[in-house]
Amino acid sequence: MKSQARVVVIGGGIAGCSTLYHLTQEGWTDVVLVERDELTSGTTWHSAAQVTNFGMTQTMVGLKSHSIALYKELSEDPDYPINYHHADGGIRLANTEAQMDGYRHFAAMAKGMGVTFEVIDAQECSRRHPLISTDNLLGGLWDPLDGDIDPAQLCQSLARRAREAGAKIYRNTPVTGLSQLRDDSWIVHTDRGDISCEIVVNACGYRVNEVGEMMGIQHPVMSMEHQYFLTEPIKAIEDAGHRMPLLRCPISDFYCRQEKNGLLVGFYEQDCKTWGMDGIDPNFSNALCPDDLDRVTDVLEAAFARMPALMETGIHTVVNGPITYTIDGAPLVGPIPGKRNAFCIIGLRAGLGEGGGHGWLLAQQIVHGEACYDTWGIDPRRFTGHANVELTALKAIEDYQNEFRFHFPHEHRPAGRPVKTTPITPILAAEGAAFTTVNGWERVDYVKPTPDFHETPSYRFNEVFDVVARDVAAVQSACGICEVNGFNRYELTGTGVHDFLDRMICGRVVRKEGRVGLGYLLNHHGMLKAEATIAILSGGRVWYGSAAAAEFHDMDWLQTHLTPEDDVQIRSLTNDHTILVLAGPKSRDILSTVSRADWSREAFPWLSVRDCHIGIAPAVVLSVSFSGELAYEIHVPNNQLYAAWLALRGAGAEHGLHIFGARAVDAMRLEKGYLHWKADILTEFDPFETNLDRFVNLDKGGFVGRAALIKRQKAGLRRKLVTLRLDCDVAPAHGGTSVLHEGKVVGTVTSGDWGHRVGMNLAYAFISPALAKPGTRMEVEVIGTCVKAEVIPSGPYDPEYAHVKG
Ligand SMILES: Cc1cc2nc3c(=O)[nH]c(=O)nc-3n(C[C@H](O)[C@H](O)[C@H](O)COP(=O)(O)OP(=O)(O)OC[C@H]3O[C@@H](n4cnc5c(N)ncnc54)[C@H](O)[C@@H]3O)c2cc1C
Repeated sequence: MKSQARVVVIGGGIAGCSTLYHLTQEGWTDVVLVERDELTSGTTWHSAAQVTNFGMTQTMVGLKSHSIALYKELSEDPDYPINYHHADGGIRLANTEAQMDGYRHFAAMAKGMGVTFEVIDAQECSRRHPLISTDNLLGGLWDPLDGDIDPAQLCQSLARRAREAGAKIYRNTPVTGLSQLRDDSWIVHTDRGDISCEIVVNACGYRVNEVGEMMGIQHPVMSMEHQYFLTEPIKAIEDAGHRMPLLRCPISDFYCRQEKNGLLVGFYEQDCKTWGMDGIDPNFSNALCPDDLDRVTDVLEAAFARMPALMETGIHTVVNGPITYTIDGAPLVGPIPGKRNAFCIIGLRAGLGEGGGHGWLLAQQIVHGEACYDTWGIDPRRFTGHANVELTALKAIEDYQNEFRFHFPHEHRPAGRPVKTTPITPILAAEGAAFTTVNGWERVDYVKPTPDFHETPSYRFNEVFDVVARDVAAVQSACGICEVNGFNRYELTGTGVHDFLDRMICGRVVRKEGRVGLGYLLNHHGMLKAEATIAILSGGRVWYGSAAAAEFHDMDWLQTHLTPEDDVQIRSLTNDHTILVLAGPKSRDILSTVSRADWSREAFPWLSVRDCHIGIAPAVVLSVSFSGELAYEIHVPNNQLYAAWLALRGAGAEHGLHIFGARAVDAMRLEKGYLHWKADILTEFDPFETNLDRFVNLDKGGFVGRAALIKRQKAGLRRKLVTLRLDCDVAPAHGGTSVLHEGKVVGTVTSGDWGHRVGMNLAYAFISPALAKPGTRMEVEVIGTCVKAEVIPSGPYDPEYAHVKG
């Protein structure tokens, strides 16, 4: 066995085999895979192995397209052909208009990735799948490329190609320990000896946390038992003359595909079961859990009603195996938080369909530092310290129970809540707050107008529209208060801080005490990595603020670029402080009542920062605004948050201080042209494409990404972020929606919402630069309907910033 390699991949299921193969495709051939048993002996061997193109984001659609193209190519390899039922077609069913709207949106989104889905009615569903009943059915989403593959053959084929390119695979070689050396390289200890390597990859399926523990990590991944059965041959299938399309049913929680001349039917029962929470038998390999069809009786009956042929057919095999879940249903593919040179590809619940694509994106990240798509949706750092195994188990159960019921916009399901709260969460709840969750934090979305107010999940504007309109009007005319918890905040100290930030940020970096500036961090390809608010406080303290979800991501990026010579210390204050935002023309008056400092425009202009007290609570106040009104961000230590809240509420009473939430903030920021990290700020685009030219200074000297950015600038823009005004008042354009011009896709929406102060349906979109001039007309496909849209100048509300500056 080799004792040295560049990368060691641990685990020989689809995740490991795909990663190994794609590493060789990216040119790294000194790579090794170690597998404790035989290849595919974890979950992969018994997978139902359906391969769909369906995804809820463009990244998911894109990576699945990669799987499909790769599997097709492998299946046609004359030297090692594999069984792949490519393009049998598949239908996701729906019995509500709201679900149909979702499908219309997904179809419009997939179009931008060159993928054609079709939204069909109930009759068309039964025409394409003659075995289904149309009772209680509205229609469905047709995926023409849906199919299934032989999982063992697929892995062997990937392994074979990887070996041919130079990779080594060691079977029956359990990894027993991992040691990291001072230079951040690793030693992988196995039963058959050690392998030294630069990089390790955890691809261990349901044993993810056995290997995680070897590096001191507990990954938020949980296994659920999952069952399907195979039927005897069905005459209608034999007679059909074509293969049956696949079915996925959110109405009755089952899926179904053809297997020989019978069916394979899988279930997502409500009475579901976690597996292996307290350890896994070391001998559980190539193994199954005991059958338990009693558990799925409820789903079984519903499946029989949808497919009456099942009632007359015998079951000949039941398969019950462990399948992994994460907190939000998407896998963890990328760098392991807090570790150097360690990656994972874990938590795959649809690993056969997705594995080809995930391995591809992971190999790109390992070799190039970034993948061709923004991978935040699968980045392991998107969950932070709260993401423990107990929470994962609750979310895994919830997700399993809702397997095919996609999340609607703004929908946050109840399991495992609340996770992270502040001292004023109960007070806000008593005020009638409806909460959204942001990186586990319970954040006010809006305040319910009546105790029994209920939001209908929808892709359209719903009853919350008027609530947000009221919030925005209150902020615009008087003043609003909004709690922003979990905001990511590091305190940087040391003599090297300013030079370090100058190296990390691509534009001018504020240095003067008492001032605040916005900066952008690029990756080595000149693409946008992070956005930070830099505030220079007294006593040599510098605050770096960014989105709540960026807590692990940004720390990782900053730490990676610190050298031993840098006198820079970074301390996270994220969990210690909370922001109370005061926004609106009366905010200065309220602040002046509770704090003895001089808050006049002259003494504390826009983009200032200072330490002060709010009543008796110490605070750091920044005069910055995301709403487009005069506003102050008041950062208060959590143990005195309630005191600050009482002071502000007391002083605000005579000014009509109104509680507003995240939903109003999001609508208002679109009117001001402000961007959201990972909605509009993506690693797929550079700052020029993202319309952030004013934040770039190529002449200031070296910074991370500068050389690449200069090259990109010379090559010219591929896309340009613009603001669109839509002729539509029924729905916003959701992220991913396609933009069309003369019938061709010319771009993609990143964010959309109603701008209440300007009375416009607004959207941001990356579009062809040739069309980016204000006044250019095009179309946006909003839940299946092409609506007219026009490019308008960015930030239509108060373009002179008169309100913000107060
Ligand atoms: C019943 C069922 C039906 C399914 N149907 C579908 C479907 O239709 N479509 C779909 O896309 N997905 C489906 N899935 C999910 C899919 O099968 C999994 O997502 C996928 O197989 C996971 O692959 P993996 O490589 O991550 O894990 P695994 O296949 O479990 O591979 C992990 C490997 O790591 C090895 N390993 C563990 N510890 C060590 C160690 N210490 N040292 C060395 N090696 C180690 C294991 O032996 C194993 O071979 C289904 C799953 C189940 C249970």
